[in-house]
Parts: sequence; C-alpha cells; structure tokens
Amino acid sequence: MSEGEAEGSIQVEDTSEKENIEPPLKKVKTREDRKIDRLGKLEARLNDILSCTVCLDLPTKSVFQCRNGHLMCASCFTHLLADSRLKNEQSTCPNCRTEINRNVCSRNLAVEKAISELPTECSHCSHELPRSCLKNHEDKECLNRPVHCKFKRLGCLWQGPFHEQRDHEDNCVHPGMTGLQLMESLEVVDKNHKNEQELFQNILNLLSFEKIAINDLQLKPYRSDDYLPQLCYESSRFHALGQQWVVKANVVGNEKSLKRVLTYQLVQKGKVNLNVKFLMLRSPFSDLVIKPEVHQQEFSCDLQESSYHDLVLLDPTECNKMLEANTIKLRMIIFQIPGSD
Ligand SMILES: [Zn+2]
Ligand SMILES: [Zn+2]
Ligand SMILES: [Zn+2]
Ligand SMILES: [Zn+2]
Repeated sequence: MSEGEAEGSIQVEDTSEKENIEPPLKKVKTREDRKIDRLGKLEARLNDILSCTVCLDLPTKSVFQCRNGHLMCASCFTHLLADSRLKNEQSTCPNCRTEINRNVCSRNLAVEKAISELPTECSHCSHELPRSCLKNHEDKECLNRPVHCKFKRLGCLWQGPFHEQRDHEDNCVHPGMTGLQLMESLEVVDKNHKNEQELFQNILNLLSFEKIAINDLQLKPYRSDDYLPQLCYESSRFHALGQQWVVKANVVGNEKSLKRVLTYQLVQKGKVNLNVKFLMLRSPFSDLVIKPEVHQQEFSCDLQESSYHDLVLLDPTECNKMLEANTIKLRMIIFQIPGSD
C-alpha cells in the first residue's frame, strides 16, 4: 500500500464525520485529487533527496558529489575546500568523512537535470512551472511581470504588471508634455544616471588598489537569545588582507511588515588598524541581484565592528525569497585603503 492511498482513506473518513455536523461543503477527494496529492508528496521527497547535504537548500547551479555519492551545492563545496585551506587540514565530506577535493569529486549532471525539472512557482503570478523555464517565464512571458512605461525616458514613473502596460501607455500624459515640462523630468533622469556612473567609476578606481580580497560568503541563520529572539545571520570566519573576519546580519521589519531589509556589518577578528572600503555583490552561486554600494570603515584596536548597512536588492520583493533559503550567499570585496598599515 502506498502512502498516497493511506492518506486518501483517512481523508474520506474525515469528511463523513464532518458531514454529520454541518452541511456537506467539503467534496470527497476524487481520483484526480489523490493523484495530485501523490505528486505533491513525490515532489517534496525529491526535494529532500536532491538537496545539498550541507546547507539543505536545493542547488540552483552545479552539484558536486563525494566518492560515496553525497551531494553538495557548488557554494558549500567551495566553502568546505576554503575552510580546510584556512585550517590547513584535509577537506572531508561532512557525511562520510572521505577526502574531498577538485580531483576526486565530480559533478552530478543527472541530479542537476532532475532539479531543473522540479516544479517551482513564478514569483509574480504563482503559476507552477519547471525550474528550467522559470527565468524565461518571469523575464519575458509572465503577464504579471513588473514593467515600466515606455515613456520612462520622458520622466514617467509608472510601474505595474505587464497586462496593464498597454492601457497606461495609451493614456500616459508624458508624450504630450511641453518641452519645458520635459526638461524638468529629464533633469531627474540625468541626475540618477550621473549618480550611477559615479558609483561605477568609483568601483573601477577601487579595483586598481593593490590589496583586494574577494570572498564568497554563506550567511547562516540563528535565533538570538534575547527575551524576544531575533532572526540573525553570521558567516563563518574568512581570511582577507592578512586578517580574520566575519559578517553579521539581521533582519529589520517584523514578521508582519511587508518591507523587510537585511542589514549587515563587517567584523574584524584581530585588533589591527586597518582602513578599508567594502561592497557586497551577487555570489556566483546565487541568483540574488544586489545593488552595489561602497562603504568605508576604519578598524582599530578599539573598533572592530563596522556600522550596519542595508543590503539593497535590485528587486526588493526578493527579500523574502532570500530569507526563505537556508543560507544567504553573497560575494564580498574588501579593498585596503593605501597607507593604512
Ligand atoms: Zn549547499
Ligand atoms: Zn560523503
Ligand atoms: Zn508568472
Ligand atoms: Zn507613462
């Protein structure tokens, strides 16, 4: 007897019991319903089976396996190798302790393909579709995907779902504005453009610094031991610019608020005078797109923690998606400001 059948019979009993008390609102499950139930359970089981054994998330990029077949996402695999390099130890599979390295571990294409066939939900319309089709659907096909007015360049700030775009554009007042009015709108557009250009020029200049460290981080969640426990995140220690560091983060906005933001700080583990600039970028192991912001911090023996900075996502609605995963994957670049050591 399969689990699906067992569940089905319980369901029928349940319904008849209710029927004695109230009118028969609830329909007895049909054969089709039970099939959908079973598929749902199969999906859940496959989700567990194909998840990374370290972070327990379903990998979105390459999947690696140890000699005994234990699966690791690319991010965790790289992490294990980097951790053991830091500790000067042999890296081992967290499940079976066999040695792991780039030569003995292989990718598992069957698992990667199986994952890409598992269904997932479009974040705009909740439509269910295979993971491999999600990006194309969300970017190009979804009728609810957020779009701008085609007169955005004339200063129209309208933003809405694709299926309302036509209607708005037909009635948009911006193409009928006078030259003088347009000049005002364009000034705002120009200013934003100029700010963006300055930011990228600034990052380009930083990339010419002599001492730069790039680290791919995984922030793991835990609950603080406050009276009201808070959701906090912390990376494992990482090595950069001759020092040990960690990144700590927590969530601003309670369970009910729609606007949630992750704020983070950089913490230096040594007590060294060091003046740095740093920025967060998208990790090569994640799809989370981050708006780059450069921050500066002067660390000293009295000050080992930077101030908190918001992690600004290009699409703020992705914040919940980020918090839903078991780890937050980010790339951090730290630049040492010359003359500070
Ligand atoms: Zn993982
Ligand atoms: Zn193993
Ligand atoms: Zn959609
Ligand atoms: Zn418009």
